[in-house]
Amino acid sequence: PRDFNANLARRDFPILAERVDGKPLVWLDNAATTHKPRAVIDRLSYFYEHENSNIHRAAHTLAARASDAYEGAREQVRHFINAGSVDEIVFVRGTTEAINLVADSWGRTHIGAGDEILITHLEHHANIVPWFRLAKATGAKLKIAPVDDKGDIIIEDYALLLGPRTKLVSLTQVANAIGTVTPAHLMVAMAHAAGARVLVDGAQSVSHLRSDVLALDADWFVFSGHKVFGPTGIGVLYGKKHVLDEMPPYQSGGNMIADVTFEEIRYQPVPSLFEAGTGNIADAVGLGAALAYLEQWGLEAVTAHEHALIEDCSRQLSAVSGVRIIGNPRERAGVVSFVMDGMKTEDIGKALSNDGIAVRSGHHCAQPILRRLGVETSVRPSFALYNTHADVDALIRSVRKL
Ligand code: PMP
Repeated sequence: PRDFNANLARRDFPILAERVDGKPLVWLDNAATTHKPRAVIDRLSYFYEHENSNIHRAAHTLAARASDAYEGAREQVRHFINAGSVDEIVFVRGTTEAINLVADSWGRTHIGAGDEILITHLEHHANIVPWFRLAKATGAKLKIAPVDDKGDIIIEDYALLLGPRTKLVSLTQVANAIGTVTPAHLMVAMAHAAGARVLVDGAQSVSHLRSDVLALDADWFVFSGHKVFGPTGIGVLYGKKHVLDEMPPYQSGGNMIADVTFEEIRYQPVPSLFEAGTGNIADAVGLGAALAYLEQWGLEAVTAHEHALIEDCSRQLSAVSGVRIIGNPRERAGVVSFVMDGMKTEDIGKALSNDGIAVRSGHHCAQPILRRLGVETSVRPSFALYNTHADVDALIRSVRKL
């Protein structure tokens, strides 16, 4: 890998040179989406200039190129998350589609009345609503593993909630609203010991922590390309081969069939089974380039750099009178969430924007955890590898003015 240096990395991201309202852009909205390095932008252009085709390898030269590029990206994803086989990598639109796919396909065939689905209080709406709807449709019960006042999962309570009726556990690896890193490895092992299947939402962990699905051992691991320097509209559903094999199709149509008559349909094996229709070929290829870009820096160096930024940001924010940080988990990645006495979070966000600083202010699609910690909304600076201590200082200067 290249020796990690955030200032060098910044040069790889053209948009970071952008000025907004005459001010240099300070991008601290990475939990919502990340920017794209030149390598990804160029890869997308190259695809459309030299490889563009639908993927039906044998038909002609460009089809072979597009198929090779798409399957090459699948291998890059497999390598990046340390999956055992490319057959375990399904391209989807993003985290949301991946979770809906599992809820719809596996959930509707394996969950019944009286069964229990266990999620945590930290989840993004994308990891709540599909399970809520599945529970409603099947007569299953949705149970919630609680957190303490710091925003950490209470592992003893989680243990008590796991039982013979627990069919499925779905939990995030990093909470998008407050940054809690959950003890996902332990929670997966505990869920398996109770006989449940487990999904881990990696949307907020994948750009910050090393992803290793073999070590994690979850049945499914899902993430979105756009939060890891890749394009929007592409994401990944990893599933253990034998688990994917017990799932019926989600969407159906072309590409996922082996043979069709009006009497009988034979399907393709996974992962094609779950990739009906023309997929997002170019953006899958772009995602492969994004993962290769991140890998050249080494995840460990990136994690350490971001950890230092988050410590710096939390320490400086806490020193500003009237500022309250929401959640104080044992381990934090990606984000810091705060409110200020007597100010609406929306107004804080606007004031920061006037200084060129982009942060999210709102409920971050995770209303239950914010309410649990006593607020409706918060301001959420969030970090990526290209942020620097100068970005933190700019944020703090702007917050101090308020
Ligand atoms: N889960 C978590 C933890 C997230 O942060 C997000 C995105 N904010 C999602 C799921 C949903 O991702 P997407 O909108 O890309 O489908």
